[in-house]
Amino acid sequence: MRRNRSYCEAYGHTIVDESIDLDRSGGDMSRPVFDAFLERIRCGEGDGIIVAKLDRFARSNLGALQAIEEIEKAGGVLISVQEQIDPRTASGRFMRNIFLATAQMERERIGEQWHTARTNAVERGIHISHHVPPGYVRGPRTNDPQTDRRLHPHPVHAETIRQAFRMACEGESDYEIANLLNQRELPIVSVKHGEKRTYWQTSRIPRLLANRAYIGEARSGNGIVNATAHEPLVDENEWKLAQRGRRDAHEPRRPNRTSNTPISILSGICRCAGCSFAMKPQEAGETGPAIYRCVTTSVHGRCGSPSTIAKARLEDYVIEQFLEQAQADLVASPLDTEEDGEWHRLVAAANAAERSYRAQLTNEELRGEIGDEDHDRLIATLHRTWQQKLAQAEQGQPAARPAIPAALPAGMSLRELVEQLRGDGHNEELRSLLASGIEAVFIRPARSRARNLPVSDRVRIVFRGAENLELPRRGRRFEPRSYTW
Ligand SMILES: [Zn+2]
Repeated sequence: MRRNRSYCEAYGHTIVDESIDLDRSGGDMSRPVFDAFLERIRCGEGDGIIVAKLDRFARSNLGALQAIEEIEKAGGVLISVQEQIDPRTASGRFMRNIFLATAQMERERIGEQWHTARTNAVERGIHISHHVPPGYVRGPRTNDPQTDRRLHPHPVHAETIRQAFRMACEGESDYEIANLLNQRELPIVSVKHGEKRTYWQTSRIPRLLANRAYIGEARSGNGIVNATAHEPLVDENEWKLAQRGRRDAHEPRRPNRTSNTPISILSGICRCAGCSFAMKPQEAGETGPAIYRCVTTSVHGRCGSPSTIAKARLEDYVIEQFLEQAQADLVASPLDTEEDGEWHRLVAAANAAERSYRAQLTNEELRGEIGDEDHDRLIATLHRTWQQKLAQAEQGQPAARPAIPAALPAGMSLRELVEQLRGDGHNEELRSLLASGIEAVFIRPARSRARNLPVSDRVRIVFRGAENLELPRRGRRFEPRSYTW
């Protein structure tokens, strides 16, 4: 709290409300308190939330990520003193962006784990959807992999479904099938809410009968299929026959198209200084090494001085500069408690000096004894001492030193993370991490014929928030313009 207040004073923020609850050590923010703050931001009563440390605010990086997203959606900002996340300053924005990018990565990793867990569940024969296909009941969680969350035919409605399939195979219409289901009161079943009555519209029938769970399959939604997960209600031939002519039957989703060449680390980040347009990566070929090159001509015009640069050299340089910029803002040292202790001693001394000044100020007895003039002199001395001690305490106040954003995997430095991503070929993740701190990298042509001109002479990195850049945007007209420095 104290640090938050002094931070606010230093940066000209005003505190309109405080809650210890939001700042509870080691805990998670309480939802009602957080919601109340959000509401006040929405109403324009406050501009944001300031916390001493992210981990006092949210138990996990993902919690913090979600909270930041909610606060920003409400139109506010989150300031964290310890991590120096403050979207109102350039370096604070840099920290915010790095935090969000790394937390986002963590979210995706967890997504992958979840994905793996789903795959495993499907392989064990578990029906993982929250919706139980009508005609089945889902068994409870058990420790026995043979029965855990397994689908079983519904004592009554398995027969309803079988009859629906028979009707479809005999060519009866969806309307008639829907009538049957409504007569029999076939319920929908969700794992959470149990059975619920429903009205079967004709349009729902194709989708209902297209469910491959009825032939005993469990699916993970990403191509993992267990064909013998549970007892089928119909056989495969009957199922196929029932699909005939159902063009609107639920089609399996096509997997996303993936290109063979991985995305380049600086795609969309590195730009030709001659025209400001993004440079295109070009793979190594017979003519030379991999490069980024200016596309030279676009629908918007011609580049006056197109650049080309070796890919590896540029990437090495930009990553190094990115890390250096990050290091400048992040020091991975925890708060020095000894320094804190020293500061507390100074504060105590200042408080003591203030007390003796105030005590003597009103000491009429002493004034009577030593006379007005000496008493005034004494008061002046005590006042000076108090002011000196106060100044010492203020100087000695340990700065809230920035720490590496909490989103980094435990014990991992930003450099290690970057190296790991690069080594493992996670170009997409590395690209978004770099883009979180870098707005653009401009490259100008090598004026000299000398091959060994240092990259630093040709490259200018613009960190996010450092300059007001006007860059070409998709779908907007943009005259090629040179960027100079
Ligand atoms: Zn160009």
